[in-house]
Amino acid sequence: HAPHPPLLDVRGLHRSFGGVHAVRECSIAVAPHTITGLIGPNGSGKTTAFNIITGYLAATSGEVRFAGTRHPRPDPRRMYQAGLTRTFQQARVFPELTVLENLVVAARRDVRALFGRRVTDRDREQAMDMLSEFNLAEHAGKKASALSYGQRKLLDFAAALISDPRLVMLDEPTAGVNPVMIETMERHIRDRHDRGVTFLIVEHDMNFVMRVCDPIIVLNQGAPIVAGSPAQVQADPRVLQAYLGD
Ligand code: ADP
Repeated sequence: HAPHPPLLDVRGLHRSFGGVHAVRECSIAVAPHTITGLIGPNGSGKTTAFNIITGYLAATSGEVRFAGTRHPRPDPRRMYQAGLTRTFQQARVFPELTVLENLVVAARRDVRALFGRRVTDRDREQAMDMLSEFNLAEHAGKKASALSYGQRKLLDFAAALISDPRLVMLDEPTAGVNPVMIETMERHIRDRHDRGVTFLIVEHDMNFVMRVCDPIIVLNQGAPIVAGSPAQVQADPRVLQAYLGD
């Protein structure tokens, strides 16, 4: 039978900065229920592609389709509402809000939730459940700025999950965190994947990528050069060549 259509289908993205083509003719498909990895040497366009898809950067041309809908000009709020959320390499949390409030805001998909409508017991309960799952419950009432770097990344991850997204894009989830926290991240990714969430992960830690992601897409000079299983990617001479530089 026919394979599932991609959940995320990016076609022919192009974006340049001055004379530099950060992404060009870049097409990426993410199948539903995968943990897809996006790797490539420094400057290969991962961040640019990631920011365009999530609506944080405009493309010069190209098309983003998510869950069957065309998004001619993705913007973060609309993608979020469509069920696509992300984390940031440097976790973006509201430092002056409490840990609990951060999740309430994320669940409502709107910071104004804290000011306009009253936060209900249901909101609090949902946020507390998520904090318990992420072992952050004891920190619920602290300002997010009081959390450790790794805990802030966990909170950013929890915030990306609380709106029940279909696709979560993780920007270097293990960068700068200790080995125990890397294991924790991995456990949460696998757990949510088992519960139906699709992931697209940019990550430099090759051990992590090869262990967790399948398939893996390799970018070089702004476009994919290889996509396949970890074994296929590791065996492909073009990948090594890309990392060594032309
Ligand atoms: P990666 O995330 O794979 O390291 P990037 O998407 O950050 O790659 O960068 C791709 C190319 O685009 C690089 O040559 C980089 O220098 C350039 N680039 C990215 N963002 C900008 C920017 N805001 N201004 C100028 N050049 C940029």
